[in-house]
This record gives sequence, C-alpha cells and structure tokens, in this order.
Amino acid sequence: MYLIGIDVGGMSIKGGLVDSESGKILYQTAITTAEKYDTSNSFSEDIAKVVALVIEGSKVSFDNVVGIGIGQPGTIDSERGVVRYSNNIAIENVPVVDDLHKKGYNCPIYINNDANCAALGEYIFGAGRGYKDICFVTLGTGVGSGIIINGKLFEGRSSAGAEAGHMVIVANGERCTCGRKGCWEAYASATALIRQTKAVMEKAPDSMMHEIAKEEGKVSGKTAFVAAKRGDRAGQDVVDAYINYIGEGLVNLANIFRPDAILIGGGISRERDYLTIPLQKKMDAEAYGGEHNPRVIVKAASLQNDAGILGAAALVINKE
Ligand SMILES: [Zn+2]
Repeated sequence: MYLIGIDVGGMSIKGGLVDSESGKILYQTAITTAEKYDTSNSFSEDIAKVVALVIEGSKVSFDNVVGIGIGQPGTIDSERGVVRYSNNIAIENVPVVDDLHKKGYNCPIYINNDANCAALGEYIFGAGRGYKDICFVTLGTGVGSGIIINGKLFEGRSSAGAEAGHMVIVANGERCTCGRKGCWEAYASATALIRQTKAVMEKAPDSMMHEIAKEEGKVSGKTAFVAAKRGDRAGQDVVDAYINYIGEGLVNLANIFRPDAILIGGGISRERDYLTIPLQKKMDAEAYGGEHNPRVIVKAASLQNDAGILGAAALVINKE
C-alpha cells in the first residue's frame, strides 16, 4: 500500500508517494509556494494540486493510497486538521483537512507541524526504528522537537505541547523569539551558533574563522566547526560552548522522559560525530542517576533530504 506525504515549506510544497512497508519514496514532485495566499481556500487548493500531481505522476490508483499526511511549520491543531498559524507562509486558521475531504479525497488525512513529522519519520523509517520512546530535536533557524512515547506522538492539549526549544536553560538569558529570556532555542539553534561565532570572532582577530567566513562569503553554522577541525583554538571554544548548550537541553529531556534515544536533526546534525560524541559524553556524565539508570543514546537523524515527505507520510501510520 501507499502513503502520500506533503512537505510544506516557505519556498516549495513537495509531495511524494511512499511505499508504506519499505519507506521508499517512489515518486516525488513539487510546486512553488505562492508569495501570498489571498483566501484560506487558495492554500488548500495548492495542497490539493500537489496531491493530484503525485497521483497522476506516479500512476497509482487512489484506491491504493491508505492516507495523506501533511507536514508544515507553524502552529497546527492536528486534532481538527487546521493550520492555526504559520510563520513562514501568511495563513491563519485554514481547515486544510476538511478542504481536502470536500475536494473528494476521501481517505484519512492528517496534518502536523514539521518537527513532529520529522520525529515520526525517523521513528518509523529512520534512525529511531526499533526504539519505543524517542525525543527528536532539530537544530535549525530555531530548535524544534518531537516526542514519541510508546510509539505514539505526544502533543499535549490542542497539539500545543512538546515545544522543548522553549524551555529556559539560562535564567534571564538571551531574548528568545517567543518573548521569554534564556530559552534553549536562543542558545542551541543554528541562528544562535552564528551569533556566538561572530561574538568570539570579534575578540579573536587572529582566528581562522575570519578566513573561513571570507571563503564561504558569510559567517554560517559551519564556520566554527570548520575552524575547530583545522585546529583553531577560538573555533574550538565556540564549538565546545555551543555543544554544551545543546547538551543542557538534551539532559533535561532525558531526565523528564528517559527515552531510549534522542535523535538530532537539522543542518547542524551534518557534523555527525563531532556533535554526537561529545553530547553522548555529557549525557552519560550528567543524566540523572548516572550508570544506575538506563543509558540514553544520542544519535544523528538519518533521513536528511527525504525527512519532510517521509515524516508527513508517517503521520498516517501514527494514527493507524
Ligand atoms: Zn522561547
């Protein structure tokens, strides 16, 4: 049987046909996200368009599609199938699931935010396979998180929970986009890493980071990691401090949920061992109860470019 996964982004809306057993994307396509959606319906129409393109292009019968999953950044009421608010596309209160049903797609349809989808995708098709409880953390522009307990997504009331990025790790610390001060996101996101890199560069005019940033054309999330790998002391200091911030949040998650594993996704996770080895060390040293409690494994996520479509498709399996 087949699943359809729709990955909504600020630039494009991707759609794919997924084999529900193997987790392979058999066909995929995309359209450009409109700059502006005038009526709420026009957004749902674009989603319907991508679904139609997937069915047409993959040449499967819609009867063999078990369900459709939609993943999207923002605040999603997954129970009612409504996009309450999306930060990168100007839409509010769009009943996407009802709209698609009205267009004749009479299979189960689910929508959830991108971090929850990514968590499920890893759990069902990726690095989280075989575990019972996992936490998933994505380090990008912000810090997103998804929590799976006993094989099911934990979302809190009206799907408004599981926002681990907004737990405070430094009281009265850096201002976060959510309005609080000292959130994990304000220290562990790629955005925060860039800010931390720039701050150290200012104080270290001889650091290799200056040269690396010039080569890349800008200071990025990679600048300090590249410098550290070349033996630059200031770069290593940035990386060490940044990893420590990530670790503070991970140990908090371990102490609350004691999952089998915590998976790390997002652009920064491409650093793989440079990230996960020190984080595992911190986890082993600081998680509550030490060696008397079961170890929490820290791992990089594995789905990479397919995470969006597979994560959305996994919503259907989560609800089955
Ligand atoms: Zn916050």
